[in-house]
Amino acid sequence: MTVDAAATLIGSARSAVALTGAGVSAESGIPTFRGEGGLWTKYDPVKVSSIDAFLADPTAYWEVARERGGLAQAARPNAGHEALAALEARGRLHAVVTQNTDGLHQAAGSKRVVELHGSGRTVECLACGAREPRSDVQARLEVEMPPRCRTCGATLLKPTVVFFGQAMPPAAVREAYALAEQADVMVVVGTSLVVYPAADVPLAAVRAGARLIVINAEPTPFDRLAEVVIHGRSGDVLPRIVDLIGG
Ligand SMILES: [Zn+2]
Repeated sequence: MTVDAAATLIGSARSAVALTGAGVSAESGIPTFRGEGGLWTKYDPVKVSSIDAFLADPTAYWEVARERGGLAQAARPNAGHEALAALEARGRLHAVVTQNTDGLHQAAGSKRVVELHGSGRTVECLACGAREPRSDVQARLEVEMPPRCRTCGATLLKPTVVFFGQAMPPAAVREAYALAEQADVMVVVGTSLVVYPAADVPLAAVRAGARLIVINAEPTPFDRLAEVVIHGRSGDVLPRIVDLIGG
């Protein structure tokens, strides 16, 4: 049984690290970007979420956010997020490295979360650097378009997520590689690993000797490097692993 094998590996790990992607949040109603019904089938990412397009016309971004943002704000952690938080609380998981920007790992109780693509829970003014919660900005989109900075009045408010054309936050990338290189078990969950350099993180772990577990709905390019491959939903698979490992 592959779930048993995964539980045995994680249960005996000295330092297990998880890398999570959009698949983990899909079950919370956060739409994935690629694939069937993905956001990018509806919106052109280059127009909506590239830094150049954003700087030229922040309103276009915030119009989409007004239409779509409520969904993301209302999302709650699912059984997959909660299982990862439970593994950390029981000392079975050292950290979560995530490609997600929705904050749902933290909402589920995960303490050490490395956000490779930033956080969608905060908005930053590119003119003065002031920050405020995304929920505050989202709440005034109906009456203020584009939204203005509460500190300086500029209309250059940008969520602290990594847009197309922007580099990933160097500190987060460094921490992710450091975690990967000292991990003895790397658990890849809900990501097809096509986005580099995030996809390099599990590779770094494997190179440093980690054993790899892949839990994803579809096959990934890394399956052949994995000791355990489970094709299933993280919200189903992870709680079973937690149960098998026990308290
Ligand atoms: Zn400002």
